Amino acid sequence: MSPAAPKSVCVFCGSRDGVDPAYAEAATALGAALATAGLRLVYGAGDVGLMGAVARAAKDAGGDTFGVIPEHLERREVGKRDLGRYVVTETMHERKKVMFMNADAIVALPGGPGTLDELFEVLTWRQLGLHSKPVILLNVNGYWDPLLALLDGIVARGFAERSFLDFLTPVTSVDEAMRTLV
Ligand code: AMP
Repeated sequence: MSPAAPKSVCVFCGSRDGVDPAYAEAATALGAALATAGLRLVYGAGDVGLMGAVARAAKDAGGDTFGVIPEHLERREVGKRDLGRYVVTETMHERKKVMFMNADAIVALPGGPGTLDELFEVLTWRQLGLHSKPVILLNVNGYWDPLLALLDGIVARGFAERSFLDFLTPVTSVDEAMRTLV
């Protein structure tokens, strides 16, 4: 899949927990699994919702962590300063760029509008040939089923090539995500 085995994995996920405890459980399991596999976690440096869960789990399991947060969100998303690296940017765009540049693969957990923004940026960049990093969609308890159906519909109605779907690897468990990564 990727030209070389990834060393750093960027995780996009909700700044909230969502209603199903399975979401936070998956975030915790993913953080621990990345650390155990020796993979550095790159993420948005918040200590809220699934973002906080994945980072705490990675740190607790002895993993390396790299967080990037814009100055104006440090308070709202509770900037997690005890990460391996904590980078403060001026803008959201810089944050996304720094996270992307420092990762070899991307995993999206359940999340809201911000997660969708981040996910579609890397997918559309991939469509444009700007990178070849794997993008894995961790579909916890069918959370992303409506998105996958929408993407199928977009292709069926002629607004994207079927090959667009190849840029996204849906998986249903953390174990499957890890098998895809390493
Ligand atoms: P959410 O999935 O809405 O809880 O947001 C997850 C993360 O995405 C948070 O750290 C947000 O700051 C970030 N994010 C990135 N781009 C955006 C955007 N355009 N609007 C809102 N949040 C964003």
